[in-house]
Amino acid sequence: MAIDTQQVIDWLEALHLVYRDNRHRLTDLDAAIGDADHGTNMDRGFTAVHAALATNPPADPGAAFQAAAGVLIRTVGGAAGPLFGTFFLRAAARCAGAPELDAAAMVSAFDAGVEGVQQRGKAVAGEKTMLDALLPAVAAMRAISAGGASLSQVIEAGASAAEHGMLSTIPLRATKGRASYLGERSIGHQDPGATSSYLMLRAAADTWRGIA
Ligand code: ADP
Ligand code: MG
Repeated sequence: MAIDTQQVIDWLEALHLVYRDNRHRLTDLDAAIGDADHGTNMDRGFTAVHAALATNPPADPGAAFQAAAGVLIRTVGGAAGPLFGTFFLRAAARCAGAPELDAAAMVSAFDAGVEGVQQRGKAVAGEKTMLDALLPAVAAMRAISAGGASLSQVIEAGASAAEHGMLSTIPLRATKGRASYLGERSIGHQDPGATSSYLMLRAAADTWRGIA
């Protein structure tokens, strides 16, 4: 079994609801170490993705990622907009034209997406950014997929690693992005972008549960 266009759309629609429901939580996290706009940014972005999917139904999974990328880059703003936009843009390029994505293809798409975030933001692991959730997530996905796990097991492993990664940002001192202006005072707070990245993986695992 593999993920088809509708199942990719289902995930993007789930993200619309997840970021709507977590808008205040993400904004509160950003209030502590940033400028209190991350929840608003993500909610605005995925509300626009939801609207774009309805107006212009994508023909394949890559087209759905591509549509999300364009909308996020245009509407999210801040640091996170271009970074999440780049994630979906690179994922789209990696699976261009494929009608379905099996576990290996999905891992490859996520891998390409996270590599794009690294190149765009020039951050590495341990700088208290979204990469502290995304890098362990793709590492876990690659490892379990190489062992022949099902797609839902692969994504579940990614979500669980992203959750640990998200929590690992609490004791870190930010050295990239707006939170880095706080220096030592960024210690003790969970990174908002790592949290929205975890929510992205969690929603994928919940949406695609049981897919072989
Ligand atoms: P802004 O900081 O411009 O207000 P947001 O509040 O929407 O943007 O997003 C902040 C999040 O962006 C941070 O929590 C962090 O995870 C992420 N971030 C910031 N800079 C970088 C970077 N260079 N690389 C990766 N992620 C980053
Ligand atoms: Mg912010």
